[in-house]
Amino acid sequence: QCVAVCPTGALTEVDETGKVIRALSDPTKTVIVQTAPAVRAALGEEFGMEAGSLVTGKLVAALRRLGFDHVFDTDFAADLTIMEEGTELLNRLGKHLAGDKDVKLPILTSCCPAWVKFFEHQFPEMKDIPSTARSPQQMFGAIAKTYFADQLGIKREDLVVVSIMPCVAKKYECGRDEFKTNDNPDVDHAITTRELAALIKLSNIEFKSLPNEDFDNPMGESTGAGVIFGTTGGVIEAAVRTAYEIHTKKELPHLDFDELRGMEGIREATIDFDGLPIKIGIAHGLGNARKLLEDIQAGKSEFHAIEIMSCPGGCIGGGGQPYHHGDAGILKKRQAALYQEDKNKTLRKSHENPHIIELYEKFLGEPMSDKAHHLLHTEYFDRT
Ligand code: SF4
Repeated sequence: QCVAVCPTGALTEVDETGKVIRALSDPTKTVIVQTAPAVRAALGEEFGMEAGSLVTGKLVAALRRLGFDHVFDTDFAADLTIMEEGTELLNRLGKHLAGDKDVKLPILTSCCPAWVKFFEHQFPEMKDIPSTARSPQQMFGAIAKTYFADQLGIKREDLVVVSIMPCVAKKYECGRDEFKTNDNPDVDHAITTRELAALIKLSNIEFKSLPNEDFDNPMGESTGAGVIFGTTGGVIEAAVRTAYEIHTKKELPHLDFDELRGMEGIREATIDFDGLPIKIGIAHGLGNARKLLEDIQAGKSEFHAIEIMSCPGGCIGGGGQPYHHGDAGILKKRQAALYQEDKNKTLRKSHENPHIIELYEKFLGEPMSDKAHHLLHTEYFDRT
């Protein structure tokens, strides 16, 4: 089965499961997989488990039994995103506070490809406002096809990177030209949570009976900050944890920012950076995003940073997740599962991830270095 077709045949959602199966059976290829934060909070529903069941360990076990050579975590790349995006925020903020009138604020998050496509079409004159940081999916692919391929001693063409995503827009993102080198994409195939569930069932894997297994390293280690990327408010909370400590050089007194959490479509909060009030906006759903963008256009926005996610609830409510039929209770349970996973983690701040620290020491240099800029940042286009 290669294509999931709508009843009228007017729309097709390309299912790359067939290509993934072919890659897994090709002995000349090394096939690795990354799995997005929101997947672990919803996949269990496809197997009759309660909404909000956290199935991280079973998910890893299932991917290993499907034959992936290395099972990694997009949360690792979410930590990397925070290193780059948090540094970009602090750079812009520093220039703004120094009186630089050319610097653009607020900075807007850029990890949701549907949102990126939205502003490229609807607000192209504002394309220099969002962070230039790639999404975690694409940061993962860029590091996998360079740093990790080098570690394995193989060519990028012989490494196949597969993503498990809560999202159908992530499939489109993989095909963008800026995420390819010599026509070889950084991420080869993205399949959704539902498509993964179908593949597990097709392979006769008894999901509920699987043991809990751990991700492989070096790209499987993540902090709690990476986990909460999967819910509305999570990206900006993760960024605040790191930006606060880098800016103030002090340890945060507490890590749970309740003022950034919740399900209202537009939220705002002011976080005290040791005497510097940072104003933060959050929107999920593109209608809500439009309101905040129109305020920026009108010169009325007072935010320093805004997180925007296209799907209601953020990625926990993504179009590739098990259907929730508009039931907000299911989204809240998935959200609670991610906050629980964050709490369970020993490390909860991206800049403390030891494999991220090692990646900068051995390969990237420092956040926003030339190499980091080349591999981990992108540009946007006027698509009107
Ligand atoms: Fe994809 Fe929705 Fe998440 Fe955006 S919010 S990355 S469209 S799942």
